[in-house]
Amino acid sequence: ELDALFFRRWLTAAADAVDREAGRLTELDSAIGDADHGVNLQRGFAAVTAVLEKEEPATPGAVLVLAGRQLISTVGGASGPLYGTLLRRTGKELGDEPAVGRQRLAEALGAGVAAVAQLGGAKAGDKTMLDALLPAVAALAESFGAARDAAGQGALDTVPLQARKGRASYLGERSIGHQDPGATSSALLIGALAEVAA
Ligand code: ADP
Ligand code: MG
Ligand code: MG
Repeated sequence: ELDALFFRRWLTAAADAVDREAGRLTELDSAIGDADHGVNLQRGFAAVTAVLEKEEPATPGAVLVLAGRQLISTVGGASGPLYGTLLRRTGKELGDEPAVGRQRLAEALGAGVAAVAQLGGAKAGDKTMLDALLPAVAALAESFGAARDAAGQGALDTVPLQARKGRASYLGERSIGHQDPGATSSALLIGALAEVAA
């Protein structure tokens, strides 16, 4: 069973991964965007870990709702509201249960990803974070490791795609041949989840 502490550890591990990979995320965003994805997420996740330490929310749902709200208010780019919505909606789905199982998390995360799709208007294959998140959620029904692998593969699979949403879509065909920064950061988040679950 996954309790509030587990979710705090997940977001802390995610913040560490974002710190480690910020340079690479920004490099990917410099090829098909505006070179700020790494710094955007570094700022956001630093704020998330700070608020979680200060407020110590007691349930998984409260941890995720607080983290999501923090991302929305601290990340300027498109990814802030989208990741914020992902966490907030997932947290709302979990309600005030003190602990949840992996299947329950998979269902809630599915609702969170659907909310991201609704907010951003993107679907599978549009070369966005959804291309890592959708396969990850499907694989989470099997295991945390399968979710991590599916997200990583989903991020790699964005390379030959043409971007249909977000800044990268302005490049048209020139967006082909580059890995999507948001799909890459999504793979980091799911990787951090598998890391703390292990
Ligand atoms: P910005 O483009 O505003 O600078 P970021 O660089 O932080 O924001 O994030 C860019 C990432 O956000 C993209 O790589 C993509 O994965 C994701 N993204 C952008 N627009 C959308 C959208 N409409 N739906 C889903 N994801 C999106
Ligand atoms: Mg950007
Ligand atoms: Mg930007």
